[in-house]
Amino acid sequence: MALALVDCESFYASCERIFRPDLKNTPIVVLSNNDGCVIARSTEAKKMGIGMGVPWFKVKKSFLLQGGQVFSSNFTFYGDMSARVMNILEGFVPEIEIYSIDEAFLGMDSLEEHYNLYEFGCYVRSLIKQWTGVPVRIGIAPTKTLTKIALNEAKRINVPTKVHQISTTKEIREALRNTPIRDVWGVGRRLSEHLNQAKISNALQLADIDPNYIKRKFSLVLERTVRELRGQRCLDIENNVSAKKQIVVSRSFGNRVADLKTLRSIVSNFAVRASEKLRNEKQKCSQVSVFVRTSPFSNHKPQHTGHKTMELLNPTNDTRDILIAAKKALLPIFKPGYDYAKAGILLSRFTNETTKQYSLFKDPNEPKDNSKFMKYIDQLNNYETQIYFASQNTKRWSPMKQNMTSPKYTTSWYELPIVK
Ligand SMILES: [Mg+2]
Repeated sequence: MALALVDCESFYASCERIFRPDLKNTPIVVLSNNDGCVIARSTEAKKMGIGMGVPWFKVKKSFLLQGGQVFSSNFTFYGDMSARVMNILEGFVPEIEIYSIDEAFLGMDSLEEHYNLYEFGCYVRSLIKQWTGVPVRIGIAPTKTLTKIALNEAKRINVPTKVHQISTTKEIREALRNTPIRDVWGVGRRLSEHLNQAKISNALQLADIDPNYIKRKFSLVLERTVRELRGQRCLDIENNVSAKKQIVVSRSFGNRVADLKTLRSIVSNFAVRASEKLRNEKQKCSQVSVFVRTSPFSNHKPQHTGHKTMELLNPTNDTRDILIAAKKALLPIFKPGYDYAKAGILLSRFTNETTKQYSLFKDPNEPKDNSKFMKYIDQLNNYETQIYFASQNTKRWSPMKQNMTSPKYTTSWYELPIVK
């Protein structure tokens, strides 16, 4: 019985290196939206003591002086690299659960009788590196919770292949003994303090407690963790990802926006993007909400928050219908005289694209339902926006203050890397 956890190493920082081999041993950090905080660090940057989530201005000077390289986040690029890694994995294993942008669980039960799983892991790792340039680490163990422990153990004993399997009782107990309680998956900071007080400081001590006692004294969730640590599988691979329930596109602005015209064009951009996502999910929505707000951090200025939901009589995923609703929702919540710092759109109440629902009443805004037309636009816009809707802002206006973004190497014709 075995599962594997594949984790991309320092994912965002590793992505930035793929087309910049000159940065091989350079410390790299990646910043959050608006270049506020450090959200990813290469191993070298971690060694310099750059903490996760620290405000950039605090470490900027010393980091750059020591030869570090900084990037604004380039999520288009990271998302595309992530999809490439996941695609490769999907080709190798029958069961995969994409857990986050840089992590996936693999079901290995059916492979176990045909392969040496450790060698299989090494092979997959080298292929991913060769085909995408992304370095991954792989932990193999009987349960999900133990795969995380296997990865920690690999780091602790510095496994050069970055692939580590724990399967015998001896290996598992050894790894558990060396795992501090706060590093156990699902045990947060508060719970680990609680357990520390009860003299439970490593994972082995937790695993050796009677699960029924844990259930009574703590929670069902922790009981499940204990069972998983003991090698009983309680959490399975969830590969039938349920359809999304809502789609949100929202952003803080780099510069404040005060006039309705600009705000409308921003909200229109969000509406277009959200509609594309909706069609991608093969869903239609019957609720469109828009929100706007001023910055809670400039509390010396007047504050305003507005939110409005429009109900659509017929579900739609046509950009034009969603644009009409979004602009209608924006009008009553916009108040002049405020500096807006953030806006967003939320699509909800989904129905499957193929189900048709007819309204009892005649809708004056009969949905366009011209799915072919939308499909052509999506195809044309797939790599780079070519077709805009009239109310959009066409100046490639970016709401974010990001000055250090790397090119969209893999998703934009205009930003392909040039090999000389
Ligand atoms: Mg990672």
